[in-house]
Amino acid sequence: MLSVESARERLLGGVRLVEDLQEVPLVEARGRVLARAVVSAMNVPPHDNSAMDGYAVRSGDVGAGARLPVVQTIYAGSVGEPLGAGSAARIFTGAPIPGGADAVVMQESCRPSDGEVSIPGPVASGAHIRRAGEDISAGATVLAPGRRLRAQELGLAASVGYGSLAVFRRPRVALFFTGDELVEPGRALGPGQIYDSNRYTLTGLLDAVGCEVVDMGVVADTLEATRATLEAAALEADLVISTGGVSVGEKDYVRLALEALGRLELWRVRVKPGKPLAFGRVGETPFIGLPGNPVSMFATFCLFVAPFLKRMAGMEDVVVRPQGVAAGFEWPVAGGRREYLRARLEARPDGTLEAVIHPRQGSGVLTSTVWAEGFVEVPEGTVVQRGDTVNYYLLENLL
Ligand code: AMP
Ligand code: MG
Repeated sequence: MLSVESARERLLGGVRLVEDLQEVPLVEARGRVLARAVVSAMNVPPHDNSAMDGYAVRSGDVGAGARLPVVQTIYAGSVGEPLGAGSAARIFTGAPIPGGADAVVMQESCRPSDGEVSIPGPVASGAHIRRAGEDISAGATVLAPGRRLRAQELGLAASVGYGSLAVFRRPRVALFFTGDELVEPGRALGPGQIYDSNRYTLTGLLDAVGCEVVDMGVVADTLEATRATLEAAALEADLVISTGGVSVGEKDYVRLALEALGRLELWRVRVKPGKPLAFGRVGETPFIGLPGNPVSMFATFCLFVAPFLKRMAGMEDVVVRPQGVAAGFEWPVAGGRREYLRARLEARPDGTLEAVIHPRQGSGVLTSTVWAEGFVEVPEGTVVQRGDTVNYYLLENLL
């Protein structure tokens, strides 16, 4: 059985990047992976401008206090005249600083009357002026390729004038679900049947990592059906994922179907929940067989499939580093597999944070995945005492 690291390394070693680029309008670019750098052709801000509503002056005119005629008004979006000596300009936030002026006095410290303004004290040259290029100077790369675009990146791209961005095509992922016991939610359950939840968890997870989904539905537990679906799925997609049927039960046909059509490159990882995880290829198309147990499926997706897909989608940074947190629980029995406990951070009475774990860590307990905000990692052969530092992975960072 492979360790978590070697399994992930092998998986990532087998990724082929989706290479096709698309140019998409900014409003559609959130969640996509940037394929070409965003380089600013301009200074931001483009001109020296006022950081305050107030009065633009020549600092040398003000000295220990002054009363100056207000000779013009400059609003954001307009450009004033050069400011003559011994005068002031009414100015508003974002408006360009007129030539000659070198400081802005905020209106709260001024007294205007009869077309003049009284300014009480000395003013430092440069006060309340945002300098041209202070945030970004022309020619600077503001976004490097390989990062997923969030709201912040879109705002930054817009601020340097980009109306559209070059992004990678979304990976297309074909899914199928094995299990004769599975019934679509919304229908009545017969004896021995359960609802297919993996379909919905997995579709949501794939959406979160920016993939397009081709849903091939539920497949009967026979070698023929599994094989036919796998073969069809591999023609459709950049990656095929199945759930269930990948263990050692009599009705577990996923591995056999894979070996019949292509090759199995990895099977079983020293991880809990999740041991039965398969990776291989059908022709050139990679295939990942996830466990059927809903929590195992969820955890192995986060640990193995998400980095695989992020890399495939063009992202640079795909392996998440944990944060160290104090354990607010005991884990008294060392396990032979690395465990990922459904956890979240809670405040102690003194305000510091500790990781607490869900009381039911079974691989079918979906309520734990809704309750949790992250995973605590317990290495092989390790016990945890309350207060020990443990690795914590925030779910939203894993996806
Ligand atoms: P398997 O690996 O096929 O033996 O499945 C392991 C467990 O997960 C069994 O209890 C299955 O009933 C359950 N399971 C498999 N697929 C799903 C699914 N799509 N939704 C909910 N539970 C499932
Ligand atoms: Mg099954």
